[in-house]
Amino acid sequence: TLRRSAALCLLALPLSALAQTQDVQQKVEALLARMTLQEKIGQLNQLTGREATGPQAASRASQLADIRAGKVGSLLNVKGAADTREMQGLALQSRLKIPLLFGLDVIHGYKTVFPVPLGEAASWDMEAIEASARIAAREASAAGIHWTFAPMVDVARDPRWGRVMEGAGEDPYLGSQIARARVSGFQGAKLGGTDRVMATAKHFAAYGAAVAGRDYNAVDLSPQQLYEVYLPPFKAALDAGVATFMNAFNTLNGIPATGSSFLQRDILKGEWKFSGFVVSDWASVKEMVAHGYASDLPDAAVKAMGAGSDMDMEGEAYVNHLEDAVKAGRVSAAHIDDAVRRILAKKFELGLFDEPYRFSDPQREQAVLADASHRAVARDVAQKSIVLLKNENNTLPLAAGARRIAVIGPLADSKRDLEGGWVVNDVRGDVVTILDGIRARARGAQVIHAAACKPGCASKDGFAKAVAAAASADVIVLTVGETWDMSGEAKSRTDLGLPGRQNELFAALKATGKPVVVVLLAGRPLIFSEIADKADAILYAWFPGSEGGNAVASVLFGDYNPSAKLPIGFPRNVGQIPLPYAQYATGRPVLNEKDIVYRSAYIDAPNTPRYAFGHGLSYTTFTYSGLTLDKPTLANGERATLSFDIANTGKVAGTEIAQLYIRDVVASVVRPVKELKGFRKVVLRPGERQRVSFSIDRETLAFFDSRLKWTAEPGDFLLMVGSASDDIRLESTLRLQER
Ligand code: BGC
Repeated sequence: TLRRSAALCLLALPLSALAQTQDVQQKVEALLARMTLQEKIGQLNQLTGREATGPQAASRASQLADIRAGKVGSLLNVKGAADTREMQGLALQSRLKIPLLFGLDVIHGYKTVFPVPLGEAASWDMEAIEASARIAAREASAAGIHWTFAPMVDVARDPRWGRVMEGAGEDPYLGSQIARARVSGFQGAKLGGTDRVMATAKHFAAYGAAVAGRDYNAVDLSPQQLYEVYLPPFKAALDAGVATFMNAFNTLNGIPATGSSFLQRDILKGEWKFSGFVVSDWASVKEMVAHGYASDLPDAAVKAMGAGSDMDMEGEAYVNHLEDAVKAGRVSAAHIDDAVRRILAKKFELGLFDEPYRFSDPQREQAVLADASHRAVARDVAQKSIVLLKNENNTLPLAAGARRIAVIGPLADSKRDLEGGWVVNDVRGDVVTILDGIRARARGAQVIHAAACKPGCASKDGFAKAVAAAASADVIVLTVGETWDMSGEAKSRTDLGLPGRQNELFAALKATGKPVVVVLLAGRPLIFSEIADKADAILYAWFPGSEGGNAVASVLFGDYNPSAKLPIGFPRNVGQIPLPYAQYATGRPVLNEKDIVYRSAYIDAPNTPRYAFGHGLSYTTFTYSGLTLDKPTLANGERATLSFDIANTGKVAGTEIAQLYIRDVVASVVRPVKELKGFRKVVLRPGERQRVSFSIDRETLAFFDSRLKWTAEPGDFLLMVGSASDDIRLESTLRLQER
């Protein structure tokens, strides 16, 4: 039956794709038949490239020998046309001449640095996100890279976790759309183009749910949460054709993800029929020993292979121990063959057997990396990522009459802090700082600059001078935030405030009486209560990349009207975390704070976030009106259309991101009070009005029931349309009929 369903699957493909798949399968089988067990295991081994000088020099010699001996299937962290060419040359000296795969963490750009992924997510702009991934792929592939370890599609609801920066935020629906856009951007329609790379959906699964936001910590999740919150973006990446998955460091309900057959064999390769391969996370096979899940490295190799981890990244468990394990009958030869087939298939699809050096062309590398058009794409995405959190009395855009602008703050002229983490090349020289951007755009206005303190802001020594300079200006632009190295892997924090004395700097500047515009840089939601209360305007710029300074300037001066919306809510204090907007109703709704004493609330803070998921202001205003639902009840197989008007009622053109949320009013499993089910980006001139529609069917209303069956239950559904999760403008009710 297995073979039969595989055949049925093939029939569903278009004919040309079918022919290609069969062709690849035949080539894989022919090659596999010639391979020794040791050569097969070599394909499952991925190592990080050792450097030619320094502490790694000695182990480099043995690595090169291993490549020649066919004991390495893939290298990570080797980049550049010349270096990849050299390594590929060694692989071609092996008996079967199987080419290497070159993998790298191209997370938000290769040479041109784009905003960090969480920043891009704030654009809610799938074309822009796809374009960013496409340029990253173009540059990386010209530098010999076949494969990026991105996108990270982990839903993250805890801003203490430093890796929220690498994902798309808290929501499974938005996260799924973005996963799809990123996979398409990296890979293109089909593998094999030399300007694209294979993508990786990581980290499978639930890595973002680490207890207390501490990186690598255990994850304990109900099946409902796993299925409804954490898995959907992975499924979306898979549906978009993602070539590989990466498993994860964490345990899930007591089982390390790397050793989880439930995740990798049952769900991914079973239920979801994933045909690509799974790479472990860095030494995560080996880590199962430290977890207390495997007794030693050989045992870890057995358990990871048994569970469906195909490639061992830098763990050296497979290459050193699988052969004995197969001979001892602890690992099935069929499992090894399956893993090897999956990896070889990708090498064939990339065209590496015919042209092993096709990605390693120094001339193309030079030309592509010099392509100035990439900067425009980076600037566009960065502009679309900057969130206007607050704008009292239309402080922004900066008035044309502002003659003196004080640009203050430790991050105002920092190149490195604009890039954020996971930068693969040292391209700092190319970064436009916020000061640079403002200077370039200021047109005759005088720009005064004072850093006031160094990044980290440990000392107040420079404050007096900065305040004096600022006191003579018409407006102060203060750039503060986390430094680039405070977000990312292993960068969990318990205090989400501004590091050092940056709050004091803000207070000192505010005391001048001049309007203060705060530009915040960070890889996660920070907590900045005083600034939130007292600043005249706030822009959240994340780590915006190479063109960050130009993007910030274009928003400050109103050349670009901000359109971004938060992809994750911002808590008021750390004690509220986690605080997803998609909360479950409690039996104690807070109707009237005075009357209900035993309510689900804190005695010292509200239940609401400081800035809600979906929040983001514009320089214009939008009104929502005229909601219609074409049918009040939905029968089987039908679709309902929800329509409404959005009008730009302000004085400048602007872009609104209208959001659709639903609530299943009564269900067999308690449902969130609100769940995002759609959004639309609408561009409107002043005075312009547009009708927007969302189509709703059973799928929109379905959820995983207590038996994990995807189902839509009859009854009433609240449909909510608005400008943010806490700013619902229009509502209606739809009744789903019995099947
Ligand atoms: C990270 C992965 C990354 C890998 C390779 C690990 O530490 O968790 O996300 O792809 O390293 O650099």
